[in-house]
Amino acid sequence: MLLQNAAQWPIITSRLAAYRMTQELVTSDYTALPLAWTLRRSARARRLALRVHHDGRVEVVAPRGVGEAMIGHFVHRHREWILHRLAERSAPPGPQAFPPATLEFPALGEGYRIHLTGESGRVKVRRLGHGLLSIDGHAGGGSPEAERHAIQCALLAWLLEHTQTAFEPRVRDLAVWGGFSYRRLQLRLQRTRWGSCSSCGVISLNVCSVFQSPAVVNYLMIHELVHTRYMNHSAAYWREVAAHCKDWRVLDRELSRGWRHVPPWIFAVP
Ligand SMILES: [Zn+2]
Repeated sequence: MLLQNAAQWPIITSRLAAYRMTQELVTSDYTALPLAWTLRRSARARRLALRVHHDGRVEVVAPRGVGEAMIGHFVHRHREWILHRLAERSAPPGPQAFPPATLEFPALGEGYRIHLTGESGRVKVRRLGHGLLSIDGHAGGGSPEAERHAIQCALLAWLLEHTQTAFEPRVRDLAVWGGFSYRRLQLRLQRTRWGSCSSCGVISLNVCSVFQSPAVVNYLMIHELVHTRYMNHSAAYWREVAAHCKDWRVLDRELSRGWRHVPPWIFAVP
């Protein structure tokens, strides 16, 4: 599983709680802000860890047996870091039209203009040669919300398939190059993880990685392939990652901040 690298960061990732940031909070005095977070106990955790999710949720992961006073103190000590990450996350977004006029996939070196054809029938997305995607059809029911939802679903379905097709040969080549074996690759839409590798060798990559740079995606693929040998983040695991990707520290950090490159419509249409 790809969380942030525990060896590198005192603050690591995981799953979470609800925290809704408002513009007022962003510009207020940080020290006076209330901080909402949730606690998850983990049998595997060796030390306290924190994560600020891209949707603003803050979670503390604690080993069993660590007392609440110590956890409270830990959160307090990292308060500034948490608030900094929340403020960074809530930088004002650009104007969001939906469907977007263009789509960029840096991982693939591709960009598309989107053309709405207004044709009848079910909503579907087609790639018309290079650089042009058409969206045909209409949602049943006809409300603007239903229309946008249908377009979002069709775009996501197309994106999953397109990215799967593009990533498959890359993962295969990296596996051959590094001498890794895996069973298959699957692309999924996930809110909190960039990738995972199951004990039976199924590698899952988040389709949102298509919005990251090729170098970051290359690192992500290596990260999961190395998990076919080490189902942990041990020192031996990171040595193996470093042997295949010497810039992994920088790329890992870039990936953990990669949510800002994901267009908001992926998770919720405006
Ligand atoms: Zn991992």
